[in-house]
Amino acid sequence: MTVQPRPAILSIDPYVGGESKIPGVNRIIKLSSNEGAFGPPPAAIEAITRAAREAHRYPDGNARALREAIGARFGLDPARIICGNGSDELITLLCTAYAGEGTEVIMSAYGFMMYDISGRASGAQVLKVPEVPAEGGGMKADIDGILATAGARTRIVFLTNPNNPTGTLLPSSEVARLRAGLRDDILLVLDSAYAEYVTAPGYDPGEALVDAAGNTIMLRTFSKIFGLGGMRVGWGYATPAIIDALNRVRGPFNVASASQAAAVAALAEPGWVETCVAHNTAWRGRVAAALAAAGHAVWPSETNFLLVDFGSPEGAGQADARLKSRGLIVRGMAGYGLPGCLRITIGTAEECQMVIDAIGAASPAHG
Ligand SMILES: *Cc1c(COP(=O)(O)O)cnc(C)c1O
Repeated sequence: MTVQPRPAILSIDPYVGGESKIPGVNRIIKLSSNEGAFGPPPAAIEAITRAAREAHRYPDGNARALREAIGARFGLDPARIICGNGSDELITLLCTAYAGEGTEVIMSAYGFMMYDISGRASGAQVLKVPEVPAEGGGMKADIDGILATAGARTRIVFLTNPNNPTGTLLPSSEVARLRAGLRDDILLVLDSAYAEYVTAPGYDPGEALVDAAGNTIMLRTFSKIFGLGGMRVGWGYATPAIIDALNRVRGPFNVASASQAAAVAALAEPGWVETCVAHNTAWRGRVAAALAAAGHAVWPSETNFLLVDFGSPEGAGQADARLKSRGLIVRGMAGYGLPGCLRITIGTAEECQMVIDAIGAASPAHG
């Protein structure tokens, strides 16, 4: 007899990442994983090179310099920050610490796949709450539905805002209403991976809610606007009790030294976020307009990607084939239950123009 994992483990569908190769195509443009458009910040590349010479040393297990740099940048107490091997690790640690056998974890139907994977791995049952139409198009998390689903066994509610893969933003007042309606012994995980890209006024990535309400953790990442997905650095801001619980279950050296150095340097890169946001806002608008002019339904987005609805799996397949023939790889959404949609990351100006040429209308005036 072979060794068997716990039954819950075999109920997990393994995570399928964005594709990165097309057979027979040399120049690949990867717009499938929402990575930053401009590569790593130059200062981060230098920091990684420098850190290589100290690679025989264990990292600072408390990520002190990084937590202090994050605290200074965002005006937060470093003692209430935890760093992880990507925010993915923090999601797993949260499920280990707060969920487990006999409990329930709640997420939105079109929420991030890692909540499902980590929740199940812990032994919890993962409940997916159907979404409701958003103003301006697309779908959004149903706050009333989540509140109605939360029961005696619920331990964690995961919410991404703005959401991946839909791109839609919930008003911060709605997120606060969710927190207020949940029992105090239910942890709200507010995943703000795309916070920097938001241009809508009045957005709270989570700091204010953590401070006001407790029992809440905000998750952030260096994988998107800071261009360091390959270095695996994420962080969380929460109450001291939550940070303490996570510190007990994490590995002692969970963030590599080169990764810590890269993240500190990325925060110090002058003008990086401002430049990336200005580029993203401009090109997100241009790509959305050109695709809408070609008759495709583009969901409103406050992120660095667009969810585009082609009306049917066949329509999405045809668009995907046209993109692929030009070397453009985007993300199919069948795994998320949206088989008529494709998710397209906002890349460089040239890459965005290639998307427009492949599946957009040249300009609304000529459409
Ligand atoms: C990209 C993304 C993350 C970031 O994960 P890392 O492990 O930090 O790379 C987290 N949550 C959501 C919703 C994301 O889209």
